[in-house]
Amino acid sequence: MRFSQYKYNRPDIKKLETKYNSLLYKFDSAKSPAELERTMTTINNLRNEFFSMSSIASVRNSINTVDKTYKKEKEYFDKINPLFSQVDTRYYQALIKTPHRKTLEKKWGKQLFVLAELAIKVFKPEIVKDLQMENKLSTGYTDLLASAKIKFEGEERNLAQMGPFLVSPDRKMRKKAAQAKYEFFVTNETKLDELYDQLVKVRTTIALKLGYKNFVQLGYDRMCRSDYDAGMVANFRRQVKEYIVPIAQKLKAKQKQRLGLDKLKYYDEGLNFKDGNAKPKGEPEWIINNGRKMYSGLSAETRKFFDFMLKSELMDLVAKKNKAGGGYCTYIPKYKAPFIFSNFNGTSGDIDVLTHEVGHAFQAYCTRDFLVPEYNSPTSEVAEIHSMSMEFFTHPWMEMFFKEDTKKYLFAHLNSAMIFIPYGVTVDEFQHFVYENPDASPVERKKKWREIEKKYLPHRDYDDNKYLANGGFWHQQLHIFKYPFYYIDYTLAQICAFQFWKRSMEDQKLAWADYVKLCKAGGSDSFVKLTELANLISPFKDGCVKSVISTIEKWLDDDKNCKIQ
Ligand code: ZN
Repeated sequence: MRFSQYKYNRPDIKKLETKYNSLLYKFDSAKSPAELERTMTTINNLRNEFFSMSSIASVRNSINTVDKTYKKEKEYFDKINPLFSQVDTRYYQALIKTPHRKTLEKKWGKQLFVLAELAIKVFKPEIVKDLQMENKLSTGYTDLLASAKIKFEGEERNLAQMGPFLVSPDRKMRKKAAQAKYEFFVTNETKLDELYDQLVKVRTTIALKLGYKNFVQLGYDRMCRSDYDAGMVANFRRQVKEYIVPIAQKLKAKQKQRLGLDKLKYYDEGLNFKDGNAKPKGEPEWIINNGRKMYSGLSAETRKFFDFMLKSELMDLVAKKNKAGGGYCTYIPKYKAPFIFSNFNGTSGDIDVLTHEVGHAFQAYCTRDFLVPEYNSPTSEVAEIHSMSMEFFTHPWMEMFFKEDTKKYLFAHLNSAMIFIPYGVTVDEFQHFVYENPDASPVERKKKWREIEKKYLPHRDYDDNKYLANGGFWHQQLHIFKYPFYYIDYTLAQICAFQFWKRSMEDQKLAWADYVKLCKAGGSDSFVKLTELANLISPFKDGCVKSVISTIEKWLDDDKNCKIQ
């Protein structure tokens, strides 16, 4: 069955609630663990149906944000998702109280109960209206960015379609492109500030109603973080400042030298080589065909999986008018199908999608037969290990996509992975400030952003762009609006992915086996425990950051990997 044939039925929330409640009654009165588990399966089927419809509506809406049918369905789900959470929370309450808990724990492990307790903590019926508002505002951000129609070089373009111009080897062109892009943000600056202010306020209201002192810990609990806290994250950021920021500064200085510039301005940062970045040497269809060869070569598991993705048409990859921005992978449980969404625009980023999002999808495919749906998707720091490590495991096939530019690609990929970490912690520290100070004004927020940027990204030179110099850069970072506190997960995962990169060069088979083991474990345990399972050092462990990055630094320093040209 292909994605286009997946049937969408709008769930009737009233009927669903009645049915769910009667199942909960059955669950509560189960006489034996076997009876309880049978009811649990029926409950999970009902939940899977709901989540599948929500996913299908959301995917179809993101493919065309102005299509009225799915726009309406997305709005409907923005309203009913919190109502569904209400009954879902009752299920988790019943689950942690069941007299058969010990038997269930023995069979499924403790993690299900950890997740249940967190789900209970982050919900109360009193916050339904606030959650609906939060969803509406979040969708408003997607719609606003998707509405960008930038007149540039004789055509109307969206933000993704501006990508190639932003990395043009012609400096005048990339400056002009950057100015055109930021004109869109300047025009919408007040709207974006207001939207974010409303989001911060509503999230804070929710936190207070739930008994938290502010949104920070609620944000962590929503992300299901059970074995680390804000203090440990702050300690990780300190290590980034101490060990990675100086390396990133050196890499930026080298980039300036490579490009033959006096000063590396904000509009130069995306260009790695004077004669242009590595580009995929063919059209999207050619890229996907090569992707098929690559995943066939990598392992039997990835071959089977990628064929399934192609046959079922589970990828919408190319940038089109009215498509939502960014890229993502989601999962449709009813059809046991991952779905990949992206905005191919002819840059090397297209190949990153084919490895990154496919990494997520491969994990979802590996756990598609799990009977506990909570274990299908791990917490997001773990999920990002799957995706970011797949980017590295596929390095030996990059020649198929980049031909004579392969060396350039490999260097740029590792280089940007390292440079990314200071940016990642910038986003994270900013959000801690925002939610610890929910009454800060938009101007104060932007001031703070610029201050944090100077700490972790001291090389940033915004030239004559007042909007960016005043701290507007984060407006384009969708996670800040839509997925609070998600961003640090990329940096934690990057440290783990670096370890897989190193290990795959020492012993590809062994590293790959551990990677598959991690994928197959899904979300059956917490972050730190899963890193142990995959024989990785937890990024929180003292000395981890320093030891992991020293190999990468050496590789990036080696002239044979990157000649200054
Ligand atoms: Zn990802």
